Amino acid sequence: MKKKTLLALLLGVTFVVSVVLVRTALFRSTRARVEPVRGIAVHEARVAQHLAEAIRFKTVSNRDASQVDWDTFTAFRAFLEKTYPRLHASLERELVHDHSMLFTWRGRDPTLKPVVLMAHYDVVPAPESTNADWVQPAFEGVIADGYVWGRGALDNKSSLMGIFEAVEALLADGFRPTRTVYLVSGHDEEIGGWDGAVKIVELLGSRKVEPEFVLDEGGAIVVNAIPGVRVPVAAVGVSEKGYVTLELRVASEGGHSSTPPHQTAVGVLGKAIAELEANPFPSDMTYSAQFFEYVGPEMPFAQRMIFANLWLFRPLVERIMRGNPSMDASIRTTTAATMFDSGIKENVLPPRATAVVNFRIMPGDSVDAVVERVRSVINDGRVEVRIRGKANEPSPMSSIDTRSYALISKTIRQTARDENLVVAPYLAMAASDARHFSSICPNVYRFLPFKVPPEELKGIHGTNERLSTKNFAQMVRFYYQLLRNCEGL
Ligand SMILES: [Zn+2]
Repeated sequence: MKKKTLLALLLGVTFVVSVVLVRTALFRSTRARVEPVRGIAVHEARVAQHLAEAIRFKTVSNRDASQVDWDTFTAFRAFLEKTYPRLHASLERELVHDHSMLFTWRGRDPTLKPVVLMAHYDVVPAPESTNADWVQPAFEGVIADGYVWGRGALDNKSSLMGIFEAVEALLADGFRPTRTVYLVSGHDEEIGGWDGAVKIVELLGSRKVEPEFVLDEGGAIVVNAIPGVRVPVAAVGVSEKGYVTLELRVASEGGHSSTPPHQTAVGVLGKAIAELEANPFPSDMTYSAQFFEYVGPEMPFAQRMIFANLWLFRPLVERIMRGNPSMDASIRTTTAATMFDSGIKENVLPPRATAVVNFRIMPGDSVDAVVERVRSVINDGRVEVRIRGKANEPSPMSSIDTRSYALISKTIRQTARDENLVVAPYLAMAASDARHFSSICPNVYRFLPFKVPPEELKGIHGTNERLSTKNFAQMVRFYYQLLRNCEGL
């Protein structure tokens, strides 16, 4: 190599290294100091008792309405009435589609945009086959070892009860909000929210209601969930992925297997699926980059350097994320072949083959775009592609440069009792009723104010769902302070 070239190369490398180091040094924590709020009195044992009682109502939703025990839903609402008498005396309750609840707490100033707090009250079942794995039964509402145990403790009765406890306490304090507050509780979130949240949005829309913000489930304060990050991270969902399931069908001649064609229906369909798996959707780092802008500065030096310099390390980060299914899901539309059906007998050519592939759609993509891409990747006229069941577009991204986001973020930090906590926006992987509100409100956020390690999060739709009584008391404090903070919004 010529001396001149070597010198230029050296200079170039030195320049890049300096930029990387300077950017790393400037990649500082965004945590603003917030004065913690103390003195919100919550009777930890009493509110835990209420949550335990709520869990005993087996409000399990089911796509087949005839399988639902509607009397339990009615009984649950009667329990709420008995437990929160002030709330039921001061707020107006409307039942939508018989079982979803819309509460209106009229504000003093009707010209201000209202706020919406949401929490569904249906739960997923706890299959009998898992009974032996539960430390405490799923529907008995046992309080033991500092936890309230059972289905709904995390998803999502704790949120509903937390909101109700807070409103009841505020009413006892003589509080009346300046802006109107809506409390929305769907009865069918776990099966799509089509009769509950969807109808409530239609109703509010017909009344020209445009909320300032909507807060629902879909985020939490996580600890020890991100490698290298020791501080708690309050992940606030600013969007959620869309959903579509496609059915792929191949029809063929059938006949005897002794004289087969070069490819049977199984082979054609198998190849189509192999193509889909070999051609993942392109990645989009927008959401991850935004998340790491807040979480990155809390990482050890080497990781911090990488996230401070995504302009240089993006391909590396993408490769690492690709290797981890949950990280990969946060940067692209995912493809999951989940069902395959074909064949009748070992020596008979299959007259048809069908497969089902489920996609979780990245914001920016769309249901139509997914269908179109699938057709072009498969590129085989023998494979028919059609949508199965109900599809959902991904939610639009809610801005974090709003007063509402700032208010939620401030409330989290005021009530978290940990000044190291970081608030970070993220893309919610699971669907929630919140998505239905995008049509009437741009500021839809997803966050539940409990602080849980990953092993406890597994309780959501899994076994041993539980919430510590301390966490539940914190949730009540959060909603109490949030509603107070809305006064300054
Ligand atoms: Zn839920």
